[in-house]
Amino acid sequence: MGLNITQQCYLQKMGIDIYVPRQDHAADVVAAIGQVHTPVDTGIDRPEWESLRKQVAACTKCELHKGRIQTVFGVGNVNADWMIIGEAPGRDEDQQGEPFVGRAGKLLNAMLHAIGLQREQVFIANILKCRPPGNRDPRPEEVVCCEGYLKQQIAMIKPKIILAVGRIAAQNLLKVDTPIGQMRGNRYEYPEGNIPVVVTYHPAYLLRSPGEKRKSWQDLQMAMKIYNSLI
Ligand code: SF4
Repeated sequence: MGLNITQQCYLQKMGIDIYVPRQDHAADVVAAIGQVHTPVDTGIDRPEWESLRKQVAACTKCELHKGRIQTVFGVGNVNADWMIIGEAPGRDEDQQGEPFVGRAGKLLNAMLHAIGLQREQVFIANILKCRPPGNRDPRPEEVVCCEGYLKQQIAMIKPKIILAVGRIAAQNLLKVDTPIGQMRGNRYEYPEGNIPVVVTYHPAYLLRSPGEKRKSWQDLQMAMKIYNSLI
């Protein structure tokens, strides 16, 4: 895969060393990053979308509603080709009402940029919309209560591809208990809509285990290859 200067820059931000011929790229990098943030139509004004958002905001279907500051519905473009699905809100997400913020969010943004995507172009959501206390794993009954919302989001967005980040997201989305290390490198299908699913590590895990970032880059390349074969 040939890398443009923006991708090289964000791969370096991910902490992945890449070979670049020796020359001064500084001006190119600054120019390329400057081009990244272009306005996109996010489609968030659609009435059915707003209605679902209100349902989630008022939801008390499981115990998690008691400890939340707010629900974390998801963020991004309702017309997106790519959906990024994670586990559940953490402390920062609960406070800010947005998935993947803080250091893990920055790394996710860098991962997306590395394959030429802006955060605003994709839609990012979680399996659960409320924060589990102490960031514990979601319980099966909580997933059962909450998964209808994600299903509706997927049905409305109709993404061309889903990137499942982390074990919890991958196992719950695909209804398997396979370890994430064995899931990586395979193409799965989300049954409703036959949407291809690619599994990769959660950015929070990559921050703790930077040696695995190279594998996540392989996953992203695989996802991009599948996506390119569909369009
Ligand atoms: S986690 Fe999901 S099901 Fe549980 S209260 Fe929050 S929105 Fe409702």
